[in-house]
This record gives sequence, structure tokens and C-alpha cells, in this order.
Amino acid sequence: MTRHIFVTGGVASSLGKGLTAASLGRLLKQRGLRVVIQKLDPYINVDPGTMNPFEHGEVFVTDDGGETDLDLGHYERFIDENLTRDSNATTGSIYSTVIAAERHGEYLGRTVQVIPHITDEIKRRIRSLAGDEVDVLITEVGGTVGDIEILPFLEAVRQFRLDVGDHNVCYVHVTLVPYIGPSGEHKTKPTQHSVTELRAAGIQPHAIVCRSDEPISDDLERKISRLSNVPFEGVVNAPDVDSLYEIPLILHDEGLDGYICKTLDLETTPPDLAEWRALVDRVVGASALVRVGLIGKYVSLVDAYLSVVEALNHAGAHHGAQVEIDWIQAEDVEGLLAEGRLRDLDGIVIPGGFGERGVEGKIAAAGFAREHHVPCLGLCLGLQCMTVEFARNALGLERANSSEFDPATPHPVIDLMGSQRDVSDMGGTMRLGAYVAQLRSGSQVAQIYGEEVVSERHRHRYEFNPRYRARFEESGFSCSGESPDGRLVEFIELDDHPFWIATQAHPEFKSRPDRPAPLFRAFLEAALHRAEGRNPQLLQVDADAVG
Ligand code: GLN
Repeated sequence: MTRHIFVTGGVASSLGKGLTAASLGRLLKQRGLRVVIQKLDPYINVDPGTMNPFEHGEVFVTDDGGETDLDLGHYERFIDENLTRDSNATTGSIYSTVIAAERHGEYLGRTVQVIPHITDEIKRRIRSLAGDEVDVLITEVGGTVGDIEILPFLEAVRQFRLDVGDHNVCYVHVTLVPYIGPSGEHKTKPTQHSVTELRAAGIQPHAIVCRSDEPISDDLERKISRLSNVPFEGVVNAPDVDSLYEIPLILHDEGLDGYICKTLDLETTPPDLAEWRALVDRVVGASALVRVGLIGKYVSLVDAYLSVVEALNHAGAHHGAQVEIDWIQAEDVEGLLAEGRLRDLDGIVIPGGFGERGVEGKIAAAGFAREHHVPCLGLCLGLQCMTVEFARNALGLERANSSEFDPATPHPVIDLMGSQRDVSDMGGTMRLGAYVAQLRSGSQVAQIYGEEVVSERHRHRYEFNPRYRARFEESGFSCSGESPDGRLVEFIELDDHPFWIATQAHPEFKSRPDRPAPLFRAFLEAALHRAEGRNPQLLQVDADAVG
């Protein structure tokens, strides 16, 4: 029978509840258990696809085309499993299901209410991911205990224990233990209040994960244990760390996974963490430094590009290099170019995005990279900007553009394709999820992937316009990957450039800490070459240090 772990959060948001759930998942997986993770989100959007990345961070896309919360990215990267759209349920999607059932007459004659109808639907979503092939389902409850919106979720999660039995459920509460400067102390009161609030909802936590800036003392953990009625063993401390990949090791050292297995009567061997430790050593011990400019529209919230950053870090760990990201506001690019400020970059990433703002800056950055042989990786909108740049400046197609940004352009080198034209339902018109591409034999991308049929995840409406393909290909711009029917361009590359490659997909979503996405791995290698060329002395120092 599937055991259930529910992770809630208290005191403040952004404590790393998702990372805690993901790290716990990894530890349990290393104990030989089959783990699935799910996130319940208390907002009313049916999915985060329509939310502003400035506010909510990246939309993570699953293989099956789910537009999901960015925590699913952490889950996939940590437990190394592909999840589905069912791993994310929002208040909006839950109400939609219940309201649709009501309209179908399924509750005929009855009053439809939060309890039991909404809570039953929440429990159904949880149960739908459990089963014979799942040993542990970790369910993260989004939001903070004390929020109004979270109440139906807490109620459902409370009832769940009654439904499946005490020994099959474990509640883990993540809280903050703040350090108050003037008194020179870590304070337990916020945690105490938040546990009281959770208990008022009928949930007594089995474990408390105390987030803090610096490690807290055993005495303090003992105090929290007494005040919240949680055994001392169940109170663990997770102080801030340099790399998020250290978190599983910290939680394990604190004994959290062993304690939870005991609580859930799960007999397992201790986790084998040798590979994970080696990974963390590579991340923390990276010596060479590589500077990558990320030309974005949402650079004020770095979470908007979370998977891109992680994929760069994975590639860095692979090459033993630390990636320093230069966050460049796309609208500033033209000014920065005039000042010669992009010359210091070892590589440029042009990530995905929607809307016109900043697009001209991305196009200018693509042109700079092309002309100055700076490694440049384009992702989705990045491919589109690189295509427009080449059309305007190498093919002389004046005012070439994507019809998304200039519907009247004489040269829509990026355009909507047939079925994508109906945009009346904002949730339904994008090419979403995993699609296979056929790579051209002998191309740079085929060499990078080491295979000719690859699958990556997509999230876009616009495509390379096939009417222009021949003109591009005659001028050294190869459409080196396409859909199996040959209609859609999936990858582009320049014949005569160290790395000017882009994809219509988002390979960042499939990158894993110990298996960087191939394009990111190769991009970073090219960037490292440039770093070496620019600063041979620095590398000599590094080599001496290593040797
Ligand atoms: N806005 C572009 C499109 O819809 C690119 C989308 C993206 O980068 N994810 O095609």
C-alpha cells in the first residue's frame, strides 16, 4: 500500500518546501523506494500557464504537456523521474471538475459544498497518483498554513489519515526559525505559532524541518520538540546552503529519512548517497569560472528562468566549472553593445518568452554573438530571435520579424502554423509537451546529442516559416532538426561558428544534475573554450592549482 507524506509550510513563503519535498523524495528513492511527488496549489488559476512569470516564476512543462508549478522541476531533477500533469492540482482545476460534475447532474438534488465535495475531489486527486507501483507519494501543500485559501487542502489532508490509517501517513511541516540580530538569538516563537495553527486544523505534525540562516543548537531543537509535541528525532534543521543539491545530504545527516521510514513502518536499507555526494563535490569544488549572459525579459525574478539556470549549473558541474550568470535586461542590450559591455561574456543564452518587450534587444544580442563568434544558445523564443536576426542582417530581408511582434511584417520568417491560429482559449492553442525531432546526420546537433531522433518539451505557438527555409539553408544557416513529417523546424545552427545553435523546444526541462541537457553541456564547453582564449593566464593558475 502506498504511504503518504504531506509537506506543509508555515511562518513564511519561499522557505524551500518544494526543495524539502524533492530532497526527501531523493533520499527515499536511494533507499530503494518508488517515489512520486505531487503539488497542490491553492490559487484559482486552472494551471500556472496564464500567470505572470514576474510573479510566479517559471511554468514547468511536463512530457505530457502539463503547464505546471516550478516545484515540479525540482521534483523531476531530484528524484530523476518524469512526472505528469497530474502531479499538479490547483484550486481552480479542482473547482472546475466539481462544477462540471454539478452541471452534468451528478449531484442532483444535493447542495454542493466545500466539505465534502471539494475535499473529496482533492482526496481523489491524491489517491489517483497512489497505487501498487508507488511506495511513497509525497504531496506538497502549496501556500502557508494560516492562509484562507489553504483550508480545504488541510482539511482533505487531515481526513486522508482517517481514510488510509495512521501508519500510512506522515505529516512534515517546514517552518522558519529566524535570527533576530539585536538579541543575537534564533527565535522559536514563529514555529510554535505555526504548529499551533496546523494543530487547530487537526493536523499534528510528525516532523518539523526548521529552516534557518545558520545552524541552530540542539537545545533549540529540544525546545521546539517540546512546544510542538514532536519527538526530538523528528525536529531537523536545514540551514541555508550554497548549492541546493546539498539539501538531501543535510536532511539525511539530520536523520529525517530514517525517522520518516520508521514512522511509516517502511523497512529499507540506508540510502546509497555516494553518487549524489560526488555530484555535490563537483558543484561545490568547481574551479574554472565561466560567464554567461542571460538575455531575459523577467530578470528581476530569477525564478522566471529556474530550469535554464539549473541546466547551466548541471552543465557547469559536468565540466568542473562554476557558471556566473550575468542577468541582462533585454531592453538594455543595445546600450550595452554600444559600450562594448557584452565582450566580456563567454557565452550568451537567449531564453524563451512571450510578448514584444525586449525582443529587439534579444535580436541584437544574437547578431553580436553571430558576428563576434560568441557561443550563443537560443531556446524557443531564442530560436525565433536568432532567425529574425539572420533574416535581416545576413539575408537582407528588411523588417523581417515574427508575426507575433509585427503582424504587418513583409517577411514573417516566424509565423503561426494552421491550427495555431485560433487563440480564443489561452490554455488550448500552444504546442505543448514532448515532441520528437529528426536531426540531420552529421550536423552539430546530431553530434551533440549523439543520436538522430530526440525528444524535447515544447511550449509555443509560433514556428519557423517553411516558405523561407531554402533561402536560409543556402546561406549557411542549417535547419538541422525537424519534425518527423519535415514540416516544422526544430533545431537551427550556423555552419561557420563555434556555437550558434537554437531549438524551438525547451531542453532545460529535461536536464538533470548528473545528466545535463546535451545542448547546455555543449554550449558550456564552447563558452569554456572562449574563457580560456580570453584569459589564458587565469586558466594556467587553475591548472597549477589542480596539478
Ligand atoms: N512567444 C513565442 C511563441 O509563442 C515563444 C514562446 C516561448 O519562448 N516559450 O511561439
